[in-house]
Amino acid sequence: MSGVEYHQLLDQIRKTFPQPVSDRMHDAYFVFAILRALDQVDAMKSRLPVLGDAVQPDYELAQQARIPDHVSTVEDVSGQLVARLRGLPIWGHPHTQVNVVAPPSIPSIIGSLLPSIYNPNLVSDDTSYGLAEAEAAVVAMVSDLIGYDPALSSGIFTFGGTGTNLYGVKLGIEKAFPGAMETGIPGPGVLLASEQSHYCRLNVAGWLGLGERSVVQVPTHLDNSIRLDRLEAAAEEALAQGRRIVALVGTMGTTDALGIDDLEGIVRIRDRLVERHGLDYRPHVHADAVIGWAWSVFNDYPFELNPLGFRPRTVRALAAARRRIAKLHLADSVGIDFHKTGFAPYISSLFLVRDRTDLDLLVRGRQQMPYLFQTGDRHPGVYTLETSRAAGGVLAALANLLLLGKAGLRTLLGHLVEMAEWLREHLEGHDSTTVLNSDNVGTVTLFRVYPSGVDTWTVAERERTDPRARDELLAHNEYNRRIFHHLHRRAMQGHGVLISMTGCYRQTDYGEPIVALKSYILSPFVDAAHVERLVQDVLAAREQVEPPR
Ligand SMILES: *Cc1c(COP(=O)(O)O)cnc(C)c1O
Repeated sequence: MSGVEYHQLLDQIRKTFPQPVSDRMHDAYFVFAILRALDQVDAMKSRLPVLGDAVQPDYELAQQARIPDHVSTVEDVSGQLVARLRGLPIWGHPHTQVNVVAPPSIPSIIGSLLPSIYNPNLVSDDTSYGLAEAEAAVVAMVSDLIGYDPALSSGIFTFGGTGTNLYGVKLGIEKAFPGAMETGIPGPGVLLASEQSHYCRLNVAGWLGLGERSVVQVPTHLDNSIRLDRLEAAAEEALAQGRRIVALVGTMGTTDALGIDDLEGIVRIRDRLVERHGLDYRPHVHADAVIGWAWSVFNDYPFELNPLGFRPRTVRALAAARRRIAKLHLADSVGIDFHKTGFAPYISSLFLVRDRTDLDLLVRGRQQMPYLFQTGDRHPGVYTLETSRAAGGVLAALANLLLLGKAGLRTLLGHLVEMAEWLREHLEGHDSTTVLNSDNVGTVTLFRVYPSGVDTWTVAERERTDPRARDELLAHNEYNRRIFHHLHRRAMQGHGVLISMTGCYRQTDYGEPIVALKSYILSPFVDAAHVERLVQDVLAAREQVEPPR
């Protein structure tokens, strides 16, 4: 027989693992391997707000990929992995104002990394030890933050904000259709959420067997919050049709515009429905706060004294958000993303319930899982959808809560809102730009740019409400698309700020989409100069882009 004898290969392979027994030489090698990877990533940084240069994925090439025959090296593989980061936006770059993606802090990255080395599994504390306790600690910290009683609440980390909605609606199904876990959903149910709520409502309804058609999308006010009168009417209509109300979902911070629903009003509607119709179940109220939760740090901020010294416009925005976010504790369950407004790496999503006994509705019975849960005390695996659950999200969240505390989160969010307000002030100061969400209390700014000769004092309102303005609206939609592509091209060449565009900020009263440019400020490194730069870029783009027609 020729070739390599397997023991030789085994020795080689063993060196590619962290050593099970303390070996500082090998630790140095391990750390150095990470350091070298970081060095290679660093070499991809330039003036551009992306790593390396912008690339189009080549799926033809990807299809040619095959598993190699031979054993490779740590260095070779990590080099190949680093190359895969080419083209990624640098979310922390002050010229990256694209979307609700926050750059992760160093401790939260370490928090994600450490469990990858030791592979805890949150399915049970038999397999996760201190990490199970860490999860319980984060649950308590965040419960207290939003106003749940940590002695009564509970929660688990799951696979994204979508997962938190899935859990919330699943609880609602079990309440509206007791025993559905065992026997399925016997009749028509309805899920009520606003038109501006996240589209994962459809996934959730589809995957849980309710069906997408059971989702009722309730119209919103101009501030993107749900219209309570329409919500109540929709709920009444559903009941009149003999459907059971599976969940009322309050969106506490919409993805595009930080619209915040009146949760207290939603809960009051739920209570009225129960009373008026003598319902034999209490429709579940879930708060999709994956974005808005972080504003809870202002629940006990003394705005009058304003010790952190925010500008008056910022104070007004923060206080306005608090008015609604402070009601989060009224929801039966809440979804929270640390990877959205908590500066943690993907995935770090927490599902909280106010009353931990609700989770009993999801328990599948211990006898079905005989090989798990023989010892230990905390066994989320008996009610989680997942079996294996990673702990990276837990430690990343814990890291940032410990690192930043309330003061740090207030500082970061306050600064980001301050920068967004600064941008709105500047855009409002020019006669060729209109801010669509000037009442917005978050860090996202949606605006439109107009060619010369358009009266920007009145155009946005006319375009939104007057069907006779349809052609004008569509022409200006096209103009804004062109402005966006111009800005995008320039930013990718290292000249200016990378923003995004939404094809439908909202619909006009006559059913057409309103295109808007979007700046989402989430980098702690953004300063006034970057904001002013964006305004300059936009004005310069107007000189370059042909108006339509
Ligand atoms: C992003 C988002 C979601 C989905 O969360 P993922 O973490 O992306 O799964 C749900 N709801 C709202 C309001 C969101 O912004």
